Amino acid sequence: MNLILLGPPGAGKGTQAKRLQDEHGLAQISTGDMLRAEVASGSPIGREAKAIMEAGQLVPDAMITAMLANRLQAADCANGFILDGFPRTVPQAEALDTMLGSLGLELDAVIELKVDDAALVERIAGRFTCKSCGAGYHDQFRKPKVEGVCDACGGTEFVRRSDDRRETVSARLDAYHRQTAPLLPYYAAKGRLKTVDGMADMDSVSRSIAAVLNGKG
Ligand code: ADP
Ligand code: ADP
Ligand code: ZN
Repeated sequence: MNLILLGPPGAGKGTQAKRLQDEHGLAQISTGDMLRAEVASGSPIGREAKAIMEAGQLVPDAMITAMLANRLQAADCANGFILDGFPRTVPQAEALDTMLGSLGLELDAVIELKVDDAALVERIAGRFTCKSCGAGYHDQFRKPKVEGVCDACGGTEFVRRSDDRRETVSARLDAYHRQTAPLLPYYAAKGRLKTVDGMADMDSVSRSIAAVLNGKG
């Protein structure tokens, strides 16, 4: 099964992609996580991407499509994959179509998580992750069971993204509405788009996605 999770920053793509990875053995491919790893390692890609990401803008299409083309050929994609944060522009979607065509693969569904801008700001402002395993949390909506201790790995160090500051969020939402939202009609025209109410709690969103994947949503 090959899926795309589409939606604005903070919509819950990473949260749901991790659950789908665990349930279906799919590879979760987050271009944001891949770029943050490049930035952390100080690679040439990371050095170019850092300032763009901190400004809340999108990195160049050519950079991201080259990264993704390699990733799709990794062994863990054999069962299928979930793209989280890619494509984000129409040229990226067109490049993806070409890549999938040459690999002999097809998209099963493009799932849009629909969330109001006001809720996104809340979600992004409260987001943090475990430094050692990457598990995602939220100050209000998903606290660790024991304060200061990661449920998944017992880690006690947590990190917040530098682009999750309130000042950067409006630039990211703007980039979504201008550059990424045109993908909704793009995939609707191909008959692949399924929209899920992302305003509901995490478990309800997971159930809606499962219903879509079972053909009942
Ligand atoms: P994205 O990958 O789309 O940017 P995340 O999955 O990182 O979004 O979610 C953003 C923040 O909102 C995280 O702190 C996460 O714990 C929280 N969150 C995710 N889904 C929900 C939900 N349905 N209701 C409330 N909070 C959520
Ligand atoms: P979000 O939580 O906003 O959905 P991501 O982790 O997916 O964030 O992305 C963080 C940043 O990385 C983006 O604001 C952008 O600068 C860059 N980025 C990630 N994926 C892409 C992409 N497919 N195309 C261009 N830029 C990207
Ligand atoms: Zn952890």
